[in-house]
Amino acid sequence: MNNCIFCKIIKKEVKSDLVYEDEEVIGFNDIYPKSPVHILVVPKKHIQSVNVLKDEDKELIGKMVLVARDLAKERNIFETGYRLTFNTGKDAGQTVDHIHLHLMGGKKLLFA
Ligand code: AMP
Ligand code: ZN
Repeated sequence: MNNCIFCKIIKKEVKSDLVYEDEEVIGFNDIYPKSPVHILVVPKKHIQSVNVLKDEDKELIGKMVLVARDLAKERNIFETGYRLTFNTGKDAGQTVDHIHLHLMGGKKLLFA
């Protein structure tokens, strides 16, 4: 997508603090971290949000969860716990219209 910041990160047109990459998915540190570990796991395919997921995206979404789980292990928050979040739409505070999975941990997360 032309004006999508995450597509630009994927194409390396915009710099990011990359922590994971394969042919389908990237992971990078959130620019405004809300916890000691705050990584965004993002598919290379531009999908706007959970609302428009298709059956054919099932494996990709599953893969994102497994990549996040493995990153949690790598960052030593596997045992202490972590949160995986897909913010979807306005009331959830979705600000980037390219689906992404937040991996947050490294402290007690008090909000719901
Ligand atoms: P959301 O509010 O769920 O749409 O999450 C978007 C997240 O992307 C926010 O936590 C932002 O801090 C983060 N973000 C926005 N632009 C960038 C960027 N250029 N590099 C890294 N993270 C970003
Ligand atoms: Zn995009």
